[in-house]
Amino acid sequence: MAVVTKAFASSADLERKVETFTELADGVYALTAEGDPNVGAVEGEDFVVCFEARATPVAARRWLDLLRERTDKPVRYLVLSHYHAVRVLGASAFDAQEIITHETTRELIAERGEADWASELGRMPRLFEEPDSIPGLTRPTLTFTDRMVIPLGGDRGDLVLAYCGRGHTAGDIVAWLPKKKILFAGDLVEAKAALYTGDAFHDDWATTTLDAVAAFGAETLVGGRGAVAQGTEAVAAAIAQSRHFLDELRRIVGEVHRRGGTVGEAFRATHTALEPEYGRWPIFEHCLPFDVQRYWDELDGHDWPVVWTAERDREVWAALQEGR
Ligand SMILES: [Zn+2]
Repeated sequence: MAVVTKAFASSADLERKVETFTELADGVYALTAEGDPNVGAVEGEDFVVCFEARATPVAARRWLDLLRERTDKPVRYLVLSHYHAVRVLGASAFDAQEIITHETTRELIAERGEADWASELGRMPRLFEEPDSIPGLTRPTLTFTDRMVIPLGGDRGDLVLAYCGRGHTAGDIVAWLPKKKILFAGDLVEAKAALYTGDAFHDDWATTTLDAVAAFGAETLVGGRGAVAQGTEAVAAAIAQSRHFLDELRRIVGEVHRRGGTVGEAFRATHTALEPEYGRWPIFEHCLPFDVQRYWDELDGHDWPVVWTAERDREVWAALQEGR
């Protein structure tokens, strides 16, 4: 009898997604792709700021080709919301004058960039279009810890880069356009997509960090994955959905941990609870084992996330699918 096993992470997800280019306001753009990582761009008077870089230069160039139909201004700043490979390794395609991240992201790239590259390539091979086009790790040229303001020139106002606290990683930043009330939230908020929390700080994220994200009062929000949230109701719903996912995961994994159960039991219980609401959304099955393992590690007292390597990915995946 054949044994049916769940394919590892997103390794069986090989069908190209439909990409949607949207002009959110005059000179403000986003590209979404049915749950694949989103990217964005903001025009200044004589330059462009790009937000996120995609997994490879080849994948980034397809986005830049669309952007070039609207503007030929040079990319002065490439802003990376956090260190994950599928968002940063396409950076060389932008020829940006400066690559901006949070200071902690610079440290995380130094500490675990190589391991994360191998891990993400194994988990999401489809996103790594022509992986040989990646020249090496992406490292920032400019970092900050709390806030950085980029004046856009003319009457375009500012682009504010801000740190909201520990969340999806230790060093996530968001990009905020006060004049247009548009927020690029990176992976701190997902709109109708599951959350990846394998490198997260669940308790901070679900409380003070999401509070800080909500406090911008955005009327348009581009999350890390999923459709653009348009209007205050949709923005609130995306933030609430992200918080609910975290709250449920914390509650259920916390219960099993407190009663001295196993991480495999915590995974099964969390899957049962979240599957009806989140199961049909992108990368739910892919993320959940890594999410549960990370929160379990946090409860065990590992404040700093254990590095995911290609090997650890497979071990944790196999153990949790078998319910160990
Ligand atoms: Zn991420």
